[in-house]
Amino acid sequence: MGMRQFSDGEVDKAEGMGYDNHSTDDWKDFLLAHKWMPRKVIVDRFGVKRHDLDNFKRKPAVRSLLKPWAVSAQQPPDRLRAILTAAWEYYISVEERIDIGDSPLVWVPRLLALKNVQRSDFGFLVNSKYLKAACPERVGEARRLGLSNVAVAAFEFWPGRERLTAAGVLPLMFLQTHAAALVQLDTDALVEHVYVNFLAGEGTLGSPGRMRMAKERLVARHDEPGFVPQEALERFGVPYNFCKQGGGLRQILRRLAEKYRGELGMIEVSGTRWSMSEFRKRFPNSNMEKCVYCGLHPVDLHHLLPRDKYPSEVYEPENVVPLCVNVHAYITRARWTPEQAERYDEAVRKWRGAPPGSERQHHFSEVMSEIHQTVYPFLSVGR
Ligand SMILES: [Zn+2]
Repeated sequence: MGMRQFSDGEVDKAEGMGYDNHSTDDWKDFLLAHKWMPRKVIVDRFGVKRHDLDNFKRKPAVRSLLKPWAVSAQQPPDRLRAILTAAWEYYISVEERIDIGDSPLVWVPRLLALKNVQRSDFGFLVNSKYLKAACPERVGEARRLGLSNVAVAAFEFWPGRERLTAAGVLPLMFLQTHAAALVQLDTDALVEHVYVNFLAGEGTLGSPGRMRMAKERLVARHDEPGFVPQEALERFGVPYNFCKQGGGLRQILRRLAEKYRGELGMIEVSGTRWSMSEFRKRFPNSNMEKCVYCGLHPVDLHHLLPRDKYPSEVYEPENVVPLCVNVHAYITRARWTPEQAERYDEAVRKWRGAPPGSERQHHFSEVMSEIHQTVYPFLSVGR
């Protein structure tokens, strides 16, 4: 059927899209398969004459099929969301050939670096007018935070919030994020997030053995030049200036190594002091992998009741929860608002008033959810 031959297996993706199948009227099937497709793309790629395309589009049956897919700010928001989702999926997977079925180590940096959408035939995908019509609040929020339209689209449309969160992608990791967006997060916590999610090797998350190995490697080798290359961090959205703010990458890695030494039980602890490895020894079966409130990795073990004020509860399992590193940093550095601090104290009081064994950690769910929204405003984890 005159199928164009590709040398590198690309034919699979093009097949079914119909557009490499240049027999006579295939552009019609292509248009019907992608009813939102800009006219220019069809004209350019298939060499269709404009009046042939217009005549086809004017047929009553065709017109009524295409109408619900017209890219227009006049569409109802839900409708426009459906259109943009389909269009973004096509753009990312077919035009940019980013396969989110691949390892995140491959597709995440490519997605984060998308920047030519505007200048392509698919410029409408980042047109603020359409994004605002589809999700006005999201766009407003993204503007305030300095996030890019590509970040908005990736989280709102395709691949979507759920898949990106599962892959460890935060909105501010997208290229072209305004520097102001980064002040939300703690440098150490973000570098650890990227190390564990992307740089420590495939399968680190979800395997306690590999996680331990990743920590040991960092403890043993963090001072080697290029152990965590700046360029690798940049590919995952951590710019050089951001590391500088944390005293430079070497300092950040040194602090992380120190933290891991504690977690691996390599630091001698005296008497009543908290030891994470001691806790893990006592409660080997507790699930310590993901943040209990949002599901992100990596985590710190967090004492809901401050250790210094409540030393008798330091090894109480209902008092120790795995908490994502960014939220943990926010709490331990007391970055919270007076209202959040007050609500947190209230949760402490409820915890103390409840009987042991009643899953007392749940008294913190509400305040933790609120703090998550502050730390990851756009991500809305924990909502
Ligand atoms: Zn969390």
